[in-house]
Amino acid sequence: MSKVTVVGSIAFDAVETHAGKRDRLLGGSAVHFSLSSSFFADTHVVGPVGDDFGEAEFDVLHARGVNTDDIERVDGGKTFFWAGRYERDVNVRHTLQTDLNVFEAFEPKLSEASSSADVLFLANIQPDLQIAVREQCTDARFTAMDSMNLWIDIARDDLVRAIGLVDCVILNDGEVRQLTDEPNLVRAAQQVLDMGPRVVVAKQGEFGAAMFTREGFFALPAYPTPDVVDPTGAGDSFAGGFVGYVAAHADELDDATLRRAMAYGTALASFNVEAFGSERVQTVTPEEISGRVAELEHITRFEDVPIPLRA
Ligand code: AMP
Repeated sequence: MSKVTVVGSIAFDAVETHAGKRDRLLGGSAVHFSLSSSFFADTHVVGPVGDDFGEAEFDVLHARGVNTDDIERVDGGKTFFWAGRYERDVNVRHTLQTDLNVFEAFEPKLSEASSSADVLFLANIQPDLQIAVREQCTDARFTAMDSMNLWIDIARDDLVRAIGLVDCVILNDGEVRQLTDEPNLVRAAQQVLDMGPRVVVAKQGEFGAAMFTREGFFALPAYPTPDVVDPTGAGDSFAGGFVGYVAAHADELDDATLRRAMAYGTALASFNVEAFGSERVQTVTPEEISGRVAELEHITRFEDVPIPLRA
């Protein structure tokens, strides 16, 4: 089985949506990513937690077979905390609080088991930490990363340096525009490709995701679920499905593989939003995931029927 290593936030989240409020959910970009990628590959998480991070939290990761040996528990430290609120339009999110806590002084030192991964994902966290982990994973055949507006605002130079070190960048469409200061998404994605990566995926919330490579373009709508409860982690679940699928097929990184990876990412993201935190992804089955991928394939297929157009 191929091996994926992920560094990113391991968090407690406080979340408010139209469906309700939760004060302390297991979250973090690396957590959401690894639960999804565990369906495809042996997944190793790297990052620090405080002594408020207990057995119950580790159990969620272990239940999906995620390797937590490189999660470092900092005595007297506090786990990363994020609070956010969504408007009735769930594409609109307000960050209320971000406490880096144990991430502030974190210096990643990867074990041999993590640094030898075939595939590496730098989930959303400070870009300098992403770079430090990238530099330790010298054997990776495929590397991908995410980021967010906060890091574009306060650590842009490091972020651009990190982008230059990976094969694939997965960002929200607004972040692609903000990073390049270019309002047109096609031009903006082209500029990100010019920074080094071969693949740029622009996530578009409930509208799906678009993929840009030097050879072409592909896009998928979101899976049309009527039950959106909490979108937190949808982007990371997408990345876990996308990167996990690529890891399981890393020898044949062609356009068809990348398109199918988009479908798996889309399916995992759709399950993630159907409950608070990662509750739904914790219980989803491989059959349910492949069922949605098959539906997505059907949704996006259409016959080349000649339509009589009038001049
Ligand atoms: P997503 O909804 O996929 O964009 O990611 C949501 C997750 O990102 C939450 O579980 C948060 O804990 C985490 N998060 C929020 N802000 C940050 C940040 N500045 N750095 C790292 N992780 C973050």
